[in-house]
Amino acid sequence: MARPDYGRATWYGAASGNYMAASRPSHYTYNGTRYPAPINKVIIHVVQGSWSSALNWFRDSRAGVSAHYTVRSSDGAVGQSVEEKDIAYHAGWWDYNRTSVGIEHEGYVSDSKWFTSNMYNSSARLTAYLCKKYKIPMDRKHIVGHNEVPGCSGAGGGVGCHTDPGVHWDWSRYMRLVKQHADAGNSTTYRQIVDNASPRFRASNAWKVSSWNNQKFRDDYHYTTPRQVNDTARFRIRIPKKGRYAIFARWPADAGYNNRTNFLVRTANGWQRIVVNQRRNGGRWVRLGTFTMDAGDRPWVRVRRRTGGRGYIIADAVMVRAV
Ligand SMILES: [Zn+2]
Repeated sequence: MARPDYGRATWYGAASGNYMAASRPSHYTYNGTRYPAPINKVIIHVVQGSWSSALNWFRDSRAGVSAHYTVRSSDGAVGQSVEEKDIAYHAGWWDYNRTSVGIEHEGYVSDSKWFTSNMYNSSARLTAYLCKKYKIPMDRKHIVGHNEVPGCSGAGGGVGCHTDPGVHWDWSRYMRLVKQHADAGNSTTYRQIVDNASPRFRASNAWKVSSWNNQKFRDDYHYTTPRQVNDTARFRIRIPKKGRYAIFARWPADAGYNNRTNFLVRTANGWQRIVVNQRRNGGRWVRLGTFTMDAGDRPWVRVRRRTGGRGYIIADAVMVRAV
């Protein structure tokens, strides 16, 4: 029995006629001739049925189809049916089967309730793993829906004109999660978190401390009112050597907070301003961007009091991570 390629997957396997044995990302062999078979895409599907129905069907010799992985709705469990080195029949278009890994998702395109946070999260972690392993760019040219596969003259993808994953699939959420998981996997690389309670944080008396909002990072956060003055809360971060770093910030969110908060990041190319909406995305790390940073230990991430928006401005925590 084959073992899953992906450590979090459970192996289910597929009937031998439902995929082509190959030696990806190198090649496949047909009638004694070798053809290239790189892995440079991930294709997102929706089963139009249950998790177990998909896994069982791929083991059925009548199916003629398969996907590498299938993700369960309730808890994000991952079943693997075909080894990544082999070519699964899921895209309905040979050139995409040859070069992709197919991920099925339990549920129906017409019903968004199947697309749970557990499923998005688990699938995104799987895709992040695939992108790193095969150096697949984490963009929408290389992470595509079945509906985006060529071969259909009308709307849809592959010769079967498939429409999955459909309008309820949240691509922006999914791509954000893929990048987050890819970053989290780099935990052996340099990382620093600076909380507002740290001596690395400085703010004027116009910034007050509160612990009211439960989405706070650790014990509390600083807040102030908008004003057109030069008054920034400052996070001192340490950049060990010049290079590329992802900068994240987090804040509790509330409808009364500022919808256009200005963060400033001092990059090797000067100050960059990033505008965020602090009414949303509370209680999690939000990526401000990836920047080339000079070495140093300085107040290089700041939150401005000056804003074009309305509501309290929050300074809670920032994180820097080498990429
Ligand atoms: Zn599909």
